[in-house]
Amino acid sequence: MDIIKIYDNSNKLYYIGGVVRDKLLGVESFDVDITFEGNAIEHCSQFGEIIQENPDFGTVRVLVNNKEVDFASTRSEIYPQKGHLPVVSKIGCSLKEDVMRRDFTVNALAMRVSDGEIIDYVNGQEDLKNKLLRVLHNESFIDDPTRIIRGLKFRVRFDFDLEENTRKLQEKYLENINYDMSFKRVKKELMETFNLNSQRAFELFVNEGIYKLVSPIKFELPNVNIEELLRKYPVDNIWLVYVGLLPDLSNIELTKTERNIIDDARQIGELNSDFEIYKAFDGLAIESVLLYGITHNLGTAKRYLDDLRHIKISVSGENLLTLGIQPSPKYQEIFDNILKSKLQNPNMTKEDELNLVKKLF
Ligand code: ATP
Repeated sequence: MDIIKIYDNSNKLYYIGGVVRDKLLGVESFDVDITFEGNAIEHCSQFGEIIQENPDFGTVRVLVNNKEVDFASTRSEIYPQKGHLPVVSKIGCSLKEDVMRRDFTVNALAMRVSDGEIIDYVNGQEDLKNKLLRVLHNESFIDDPTRIIRGLKFRVRFDFDLEENTRKLQEKYLENINYDMSFKRVKKELMETFNLNSQRAFELFVNEGIYKLVSPIKFELPNVNIEELLRKYPVDNIWLVYVGLLPDLSNIELTKTERNIIDDARQIGELNSDFEIYKAFDGLAIESVLLYGITHNLGTAKRYLDDLRHIKISVSGENLLTLGIQPSPKYQEIFDNILKSKLQNPNMTKEDELNLVKKLF
């Protein structure tokens, strides 16, 4: 996303957070956050017509040169309940106070809109140069443990490391987790992290014990390169193929579809023939097949995905009726018989299939 050009003679408007980090790194930003130092609702009509206001958060949407732009007020926050959403303590605080509520120094940079000046209260530029993620204070992960997963996401996205004290704070927190936290945000960060499809992210997640944020039940790294697997077999819910491996997901609120994908994979036992493999996986999401492959037998999952799933029988119920076979549970038996033969000989034509039916029934 491009940085929006705004004419500002108040000198109080700042690009802030990830967008400044991305600009200094020379990478594209997902979104552009703009903050007014002071109360944006009271002052941002100078940039255009106000079309929406949210007084609780001090945010305002303004039409600037026919473009909708969101302005936030500088705000400070407190954590009355550690691990849960913060509460806004002041709207219209100083830029410095606003910056201090943020997660990492590299995400706490501001750039003045009027002259492009970088405002760096926390040495974020130095950390950016050294590719380090550093929290702003020692209570950071206690206030908001999702920052540990955010840290993992940024480490992988930008190839950064944790600064030493930050690493120690992470270790310390993971040894003594307060499970009374907002798991909704944990889920959101897990999705964003693992949708990057990174084996490195998963290895760090497991080896550093970050998985314990989801559940304390011990979890070992499976012996499969999931990143490569997912590149070969693309799926919609990449993150589920990683997170679905955790033995206990009871803290994470899964949608019905997500739950089914995981349960389907977990219900399948040993599969001993192509027919059993086909019957077990037919109609399941690829995510489920991959989860089974990673936890049980990769060869079996690949056999299905590479070969068996492309095999379909051509004979239909209508064809059976034409042959004079009345609809009954027998139909399933017939279809299964055709399938068994076709799995052995995928070149069977429809005529071959019909001949088989005539021969057997
Ligand atoms: P992305 O490129 O993923 O959007 P981002 O840094 O812009 O990265 P957002 O989640 O959009 O990430 O958050 C915007 C900014 O808000 C961050 O740069 C950071 O300053 C602040 N922020 C977001 N989440 C937290 C958090 N959990 N704790 C503290 N500050 C946060």
